[in-house]
Amino acid sequence: MGIQLGIVGYGGMGGFHHRNASKIEGVQVVGAYDIDPVRVQVAEESGLRGFSSLEDLLACEDINTVLVAVPNDCHMEICIAASNAGKHVICEKPAALNVDELDQMIAAAGRNGKLFTVHQNRRWDKDFRIVKDILDSGELGKVYSIQSRLHGSGGVMFGWRGEKKHGGGMLYDWGVHFIDQLMWMLGYDNFRSVFCKTSNVKTTEVEDYFFLVFDLEDGSHVQVEIGTFVLKELPRWLLLGDEATAYVNDFSRSGGIIRLDSTVETKSEIIMTSAGPTRTFAPRPDNVKLESELPDVEADWSEYYKNVRDAIDGKAELIVQPWQVRKVLKTIEAAFRSAETGELVSLKN
Ligand code: NAD
Repeated sequence: MGIQLGIVGYGGMGGFHHRNASKIEGVQVVGAYDIDPVRVQVAEESGLRGFSSLEDLLACEDINTVLVAVPNDCHMEICIAASNAGKHVICEKPAALNVDELDQMIAAAGRNGKLFTVHQNRRWDKDFRIVKDILDSGELGKVYSIQSRLHGSGGVMFGWRGEKKHGGGMLYDWGVHFIDQLMWMLGYDNFRSVFCKTSNVKTTEVEDYFFLVFDLEDGSHVQVEIGTFVLKELPRWLLLGDEATAYVNDFSRSGGIIRLDSTVETKSEIIMTSAGPTRTFAPRPDNVKLESELPDVEADWSEYYKNVRDAIDGKAELIVQPWQVRKVLKTIEAAFRSAETGELVSLKN
């Protein structure tokens, strides 16, 4: 059977799905609907059947799966309509603006016996898979801090992403990816509490900067920071262990793992800074540090479509499960609450 896909919302991401899903065996992209007729025309010019209403697309018997790629505030209504029309649903992230909305979407899919999943494609990011590999290997020793960060200097949130009513802001836009990565990797029940700060640096309605810290049950902590106006960019990842430090510069394999050379004897020296001495922060000589390459890890994001195809055919469990999406959304709600109240918010209820 596979996926016979109808795309709702043929903007940036709708077109991206068309181009990429078409390459996968067992996936056929049938048609698209967009509220903007110009975008329907673009879909037609790209070889798709254009639909002039959502109802027409949902009534099409050649479509068994609907991919929803519209602004965040429109996800719920379209996903529920698609489930009620007997279609499987792939929803773009963030699936919904709160857990109540998401519960209605999951319930609609359940009532109709159809699959519901969310496009959390960044579980297949190369940098993330490298970090997961390093942590799984245990080679850093006891890891006491994981820092997931994205700095950009654009200083702008484009179009509807800058508007509150459309579900804009960095927590929904990128935070949902990074929190999903961390919770999937470290275990959903491992997350104890969150403390979050947000800023509107260049935006008026929604946060274009946030910093949050999770306390984990295992005693470690995780930081996530996303800033759109940072003119000195820090590495995408920093992993601090009691035996080694790993860093990943960007979305690629650029970075390294640094440990001390146990064969070289080190003497602790006192150095002078402008206003006083320090021994603790005297830099170690370069010959004491050994830096190795990051592991070369396969990361193939097309696995996402293949998994949904196989789940529809009853041959695999979904990788992105609704309950996981719900945990992440609940965590984002808690982060917003922390930012509003200035308090640590428990993730344990
Ligand atoms: P976009 O503005 O480029 O495109 C959205 C399209 O939806 C537009 O063509 C618009 O006309 C159409 N639209 C708006 N309301 C509609 C409605 N009610 N019915 C039908 N069409 C409607 O936005 P985008 O960048 O493509 O983002 C779409 C979704 O994809 C968002 O949820 C976004 O968060 C998500 N996204 C995900 C990723 C990812 O990596 N997973 C990347 C970018 C965007």
